[in-house]
Amino acid sequence: MNSSGLVKRNDDADMMMQTMMMETMQPEHPIELERGVFTISIDFELIWGTLDLFGPDRFRRACQIERKEIIDRLLDLFVEFEVPATWCVLGHLFLERCGTSNGRKHPEIVRPVHSWHLKDWFEHDPGGAEGSDSLFLGRSLVEKIRACPVPQEIGGHSFSHVIFGDSGCSRETAESELAASVKAAREMGIEMRSFAFPRNEVGHLDVLKEYGFECYRGPERNWYESKNWSPQVKRFCHLWDVFRAATPSVALPEFTDSGLWNVPGSMVYFPMHGLRRYIPISSRVSRAIKGLHTAAQRKRVFHLWFHPTNLADQSGAMFDGLRRILESACSLRARREIEFLPMGSLAAADPLWREDSTNADLKTQGGISEVSVPSAV
Ligand SMILES: [Zn+2]
Repeated sequence: MNSSGLVKRNDDADMMMQTMMMETMQPEHPIELERGVFTISIDFELIWGTLDLFGPDRFRRACQIERKEIIDRLLDLFVEFEVPATWCVLGHLFLERCGTSNGRKHPEIVRPVHSWHLKDWFEHDPGGAEGSDSLFLGRSLVEKIRACPVPQEIGGHSFSHVIFGDSGCSRETAESELAASVKAAREMGIEMRSFAFPRNEVGHLDVLKEYGFECYRGPERNWYESKNWSPQVKRFCHLWDVFRAATPSVALPEFTDSGLWNVPGSMVYFPMHGLRRYIPISSRVSRAIKGLHTAAQRKRVFHLWFHPTNLADQSGAMFDGLRRILESACSLRARREIEFLPMGSLAAADPLWREDSTNADLKTQGGISEVSVPSAV
């Protein structure tokens, strides 16, 4: 297996990553972890994530803060705490520039037919090259992520934030989105293996597999998901869980029929705007710390995720909260109760977890620490 979206900084890191890139094997037995795992994934999309709902203006300011400050501050934190996070980057952000072909923007993309967006899917895309305040292009920011001294994984998030789980996203649309993303990433020398679905709506897993992805972030496994309740009631349950700092779900990665690993999310570090600003940041932090401790005790994965723009409102306090979460995770790591792993390593390392005596040696060599990249650089 060739390289991955995990960025390598030198030969040692390269060798270590090669060790990680063993052939993926389908487990015949339930997997187990040697210790808990802390995974962070970040949906990096600038304005594209809300374009179909609100146009380019509503979150313009948040995206400008994201460009100017948040990416740098996140990377600084990840260096300080040696966190190898997974950045699920929207394909359009890899582009150096974009324009029109025969008067049409992105003719390579088969347009989705989402019921809530009837105009051309690329109506707001201004084209041109990336500027210092571009909301649509982000190659310079991806380069910053790649240059991080603690290797960061670069994964995918579709090309233009089409909603894969919606019936308006055909197989052809999904294929065109993934083909364009993979092409744009490869032009930067990046091979992606991990994927976060726009709005977490899972769909077209077989197409994902076809385009070389190995794992995705599945929805959080909350207690109310199986209930036959309306989305509004479930949203209230989610807010209530955060308000009371309920322990988030922790899980083992699951090898699905699609041939992909599902690394379910545990908790979103959600922003201080809308209704959610009434929930104190301390509730988010307490909840995450409970998740970390539960992951350590039960040898499961605590998977925290967010958008960089989630830290745009009350930025200082939100970063302080994230720092408290990372401090707690680091003390568990120092006691060897938890390991920090990006999503792609969870998929790559799966042979090491099998309850199979042929892999016992690998397990006792510390399969998980073997794929922990920061100490190698
Ligand atoms: Zn474009």
